[in-house]
Amino acid sequence: MLPFARVAIVGLGLIGSSVARAVRQTMPTVRLTGHDADPDVRAAAVALELCDDVADQAGAAVTDADLVILCVPVGAIGAVAAELAADLAEGVVVTDVGSCKASVARALAEVLPGVAIVPAHPVAGTERSGPEAGFATLFQGRWCILTPTEGSPPEAVERVAAFWGRMGAEVELMDPDHHDRVLAVTSHLPHLIAYTIVGTASDLEEVTRSEVIKYSAGGFRDFTRIAASDPVMWRDVFLSNREAVLDMLGRFSEDLSALSRAIRWGDGDALEELFTRTRAIRRAVVEQGQDDAREDFGRSHP
Ligand code: NAP
Repeated sequence: MLPFARVAIVGLGLIGSSVARAVRQTMPTVRLTGHDADPDVRAAAVALELCDDVADQAGAAVTDADLVILCVPVGAIGAVAAELAADLAEGVVVTDVGSCKASVARALAEVLPGVAIVPAHPVAGTERSGPEAGFATLFQGRWCILTPTEGSPPEAVERVAAFWGRMGAEVELMDPDHHDRVLAVTSHLPHLIAYTIVGTASDLEEVTRSEVIKYSAGGFRDFTRIAASDPVMWRDVFLSNREAVLDMLGRFSEDLSALSRAIRWGDGDALEELFTRTRAIRRAVVEQGQDDAREDFGRSHP
């Protein structure tokens, strides 16, 4: 038995269009409706046949739905939920895919009183955006973290978990604040570091931009993938998860200072000890199936 029969997706970019494709593939009898604020995205969604119906207004997309998934940038989730609140059906479950959870849970509870809300975060994505970038298998074998609040009905949590399970995701439940601290270190801080390194390299005066690009295989190019991630999405992530990110950034800055000191004083043992520990982390990531085991991310070396 399917967890939901009529699913509405609001925001048809990378994640929303991937959900649409995954639903089509794994739950083909589900009736899918969709909406995006951008007319070009709506036109692309129609051309790609992502949904049975793409509505010009958010409210029109959700009227019959028993599950509404908000797939817009984190900073827009509260406003979008307020926009469609009056059109929600009786008994509907509202969820989202936002990368930060405490701020989203607060925003949704404020504008949707009495509605069954189950915030969620699929820990899967790429550096690309838009409806063309999505694919049906994006969530397969990836974690989807649900962060129910006291007001989330257990039966709604179970159905949302079953929905993500159908799309191939492994589901875990977490407290929203804990989620934000974990993701601050595993996702938000790495993005901030990549944005900084790529920004610094492009600002350097003694090394030309063409040299930075030409010799990027030395390591720089791996940061450019992360630093190419959607600017609006990431602006909202840092503004919404400010406290946890600043906390982790403080810790990171201290560790970076310790590393500078080790280099300045020629403390090779400290450097080797750290680099040995970090190599073991990489092994664990691969062993747990979180990345390709092939060297150099599986790039071909003709
Ligand atoms: P995306 O490709 O940029 O798609 C977001 C879509 O939402 C865009 O088409 C955007 O339209 C539309 N939108 C913005 N404001 C809207 C509004 N008020 N009403 C309706 N549509 C609106 O971004 P994404 O990567 O799919 O990210 C969507 C959500 O998934 C974010 O909350 C993000 O934190 C979360 N997430 C992303 C990843 C990832 O790796 N990308 C992973 C996990 C979770 P325009 O921009 O054209 O105006």
